[in-house]
Amino acid sequence: MSDAGSVKHYDVLIIGAGPGGCSTAIALKDAGLRVAMIDKSKFPRDKVCGELMHRKAVETLNTILPGFEQTFKAFPKTLVLKHTQINYKGQLIQFDWKNESYTCPRMDLDNFLLGQVKEHTNTDIFTSTAPDKITVNNDGVTITIKDSPTVYTGKIVIGADGANSVVAKQLTERSINRKHYLGAVRAYYSNVKDTHPDISQVFFSPKYGLNYLWVFPVEGGKVNVGFGLLSQNIADKKINLKDAFYEYFKQSPELSAKFKDAVQEGPLEGFGVPLGSSIGAPSGNCFLLVGDAASLSNPLSGTGIGNAVLSGKLAADQALRCFKTNDFSPSAMLQYDADLQTAIVNDLVKSYNVQRTLSKLPFILDVVFWLGKFEKVKKYIQSMV
Ligand SMILES: Cc1cc2nc3c(=O)[nH]c(=O)nc-3n(C[C@H](O)[C@H](O)[C@H](O)COP(=O)(O)OP(=O)(O)OC[C@H]3O[C@@H](n4cnc5c(N)ncnc54)[C@H](O)[C@@H]3O)c2cc1C
Repeated sequence: MSDAGSVKHYDVLIIGAGPGGCSTAIALKDAGLRVAMIDKSKFPRDKVCGELMHRKAVETLNTILPGFEQTFKAFPKTLVLKHTQINYKGQLIQFDWKNESYTCPRMDLDNFLLGQVKEHTNTDIFTSTAPDKITVNNDGVTITIKDSPTVYTGKIVIGADGANSVVAKQLTERSINRKHYLGAVRAYYSNVKDTHPDISQVFFSPKYGLNYLWVFPVEGGKVNVGFGLLSQNIADKKINLKDAFYEYFKQSPELSAKFKDAVQEGPLEGFGVPLGSSIGAPSGNCFLLVGDAASLSNPLSGTGIGNAVLSGKLAADQALRCFKTNDFSPSAMLQYDADLQTAIVNDLVKSYNVQRTLSKLPFILDVVFWLGKFEKVKKYIQSMV
């Protein structure tokens, strides 16, 4: 990095230090490029989330940083989950997965990932630093900073700045499409009955159609509880999501009993989830979008950490191709769009189709649940996931 006055010159500018940004920085560790990562928050910082991490996230990180899985599993804030209990109309099915998943509070997870970037890469990290104007011209990208004379330049900018991405807002025509966006809330609870550190639990309420309330164990004997609704439904039916959250408990005898003596730890907080059923352009002249900035959360489950991490790796691969060919044009970036399509978006479309079908024909859920009680069907489902 060279510093002429208040102008800092880099090759790659990553905006956002969440899972998507950290994955990008780690994947660029051996590229010999000058990389800066800029985040508006002061770390450690929280991110409203269910905090369930599918294996995909850990596998991807282990590919770009061999040994990651071992370090992550040894991290005291990580829980390894092996089972899921699904509660539906007073009945319960337990699935025992061959692939484990994980929970880790985002306050700790994201700080841990940032620690991995610090330890294993030469990335210059700027936190509490909020981009103001992002400009693309013939020489590349220029970013000014709010309340600061400092200017950052780079050949390419990678927007990993989440659901309210400034990179997407300033460099694309993106606007929120309520049919492809969730409003979601979560709170932590302690003293909840019948929870176990390696079991995730989900509850369906008929009142909210195709929708589930999650109860995920997190370290310290607590659980992360939450649910989300399509923003279109929230707007059409004028639903207050926080009221609906507490209503969910009253609707369900199982939840009322389970949470009878529970203590809410901290506030109920909400955040948006941009769904991958409509992703828009994830790249353009001198820029790439990853994770929630590219709208890559799963339309069926609402999960997005795994796709943020995987898209971060794919964005790093694309940045390397750009530097190799010295081509940062929109047409050069199309390879990234194609890679995203194959590795992520095709699956998201399948999830969206399942989501649409179940929303239109909710009785299918009854059939699936009924079938799931048969050991052979259950084993088949378990072998698929
Ligand atoms: C209630 C809820 C529950 C969820 N549950 C799950 C779950 O259980 N499992 C799962 O996999 N996914 C879940 N998700 C989705 C998941 O949180 C996101 O998909 C994931 O965090 C995306 O990672 P990211 O790195 O793209 O963005 P983020 O994690 O949002 O990180 C973005 C980073 O950019 C920074 N930033 C934001 N704006 C700016 C700016 N203007 N300038 C600079 N920096 C900026 C932020 O400080 C942050 O560090 C849930 C989401 C919600 C809202």
